[in-house]
Amino acid sequence: MYDLLIIGSGPAGVSAALSAKARNLDFLWFGSRALSPKITKAERVINYPGLPSITGTEMRDAFLRQTGSLGISILEERVNAVYDMGGYYTSVVNEKMYDAKAVILATGVSSCREIPGESRLLGRGVSYCATCDGGLYRGKRIAVVCTDSSLEEEIEFLADLASEVFLCTSYKDCGIRRDNVRHTVGYPMEILGESRASGIVCNGETVDADGVFCLRSCVAPAALLPGLAAEGGHIQVDRQQRTNLPGCFAAGDCTGRPYQYAKAVGEGNVALHSAVEYIKKAVV
Ligand SMILES: Cc1cc2nc3c(=O)[nH]c(=O)nc-3n(C[C@H](O)[C@H](O)[C@H](O)COP(=O)(O)OP(=O)(O)OC[C@H]3O[C@@H](n4cnc5c(N)ncnc54)[C@H](O)[C@@H]3O)c2cc1C
Repeated sequence: MYDLLIIGSGPAGVSAALSAKARNLDFLWFGSRALSPKITKAERVINYPGLPSITGTEMRDAFLRQTGSLGISILEERVNAVYDMGGYYTSVVNEKMYDAKAVILATGVSSCREIPGESRLLGRGVSYCATCDGGLYRGKRIAVVCTDSSLEEEIEFLADLASEVFLCTSYKDCGIRRDNVRHTVGYPMEILGESRASGIVCNGETVDADGVFCLRSCVAPAALLPGLAAEGGHIQVDRQQRTNLPGCFAAGDCTGRPYQYAKAVGEGNVALHSAVEYIKKAVV
């Protein structure tokens, strides 16, 4: 049982991780060593205090020097889901699970559109993880939604297991060529099912499926953590960065505009201090 999980390695996550280290927390920090594409893509940053007129890559290198010098390491893993276990949180990372008393979501603003039915049926036939759940669909019919060609290796893995795959990609040049894969370019209108996912609607066609895999490089906040209150794609927080779920805090672009480094860093710091207060009182 860790004290804290920090999910996301942009400026909000960096800020939370620096203060978590300063406060001696036992924490895990998920993200990537590239930190965030929104840092590296910035041509020139002129409004961040202390680092006047630097490029995005110079900013990333400065952040990495600072975290590295304190011995803070990043777990280069994508968190597929987080669950509120009523007193603690479990994060699912491919086939691994990590528990902590509190969690800070610093995932950046999500550009992915949730499919109607997706969060309602998550864990009931809807999955984000081919490695974790693929084995459940051996010899069965599945639908796969993919928005990122770098995830095609996961489609290949699923096609090895399932009897039939209905594949919807949001991009055109899909590299999957398999006899049991039927491909269409489009984004689904709905995932069907009452108590379990039973099919998908894409391009006006309804296709039966025993399971639906959503493979995307981003996850909408409420889909990442079921029960989390969000509006317009932003996680709802108060001034202490508390969400509606006790022990869950959020910081940075994921909580709303303005989308700015300084705001993300400030919120990461506030979220960490709120988490420290919460952890002190937590009984797990
Ligand atoms: C081209 C460009 C230029 C910009 N210029 C400026 C500027 O000059 N000044 C300014 O103030 N702002 C600027 N911004 C805005 C700024 O980049 C964002 O406001 C800031 O990066 C937000 O930080 P964040 O930590 O909230 O999220 P992000 O920087 O988006 O970082 C979130 C990180 O979390 C990771 N993540 C998400 N989900 C998961 C998961 N499930 N598991 C593991 N990791 C996950 C993501 O991959 C990402 O690396 C610019 C943005 C762009 C795109």
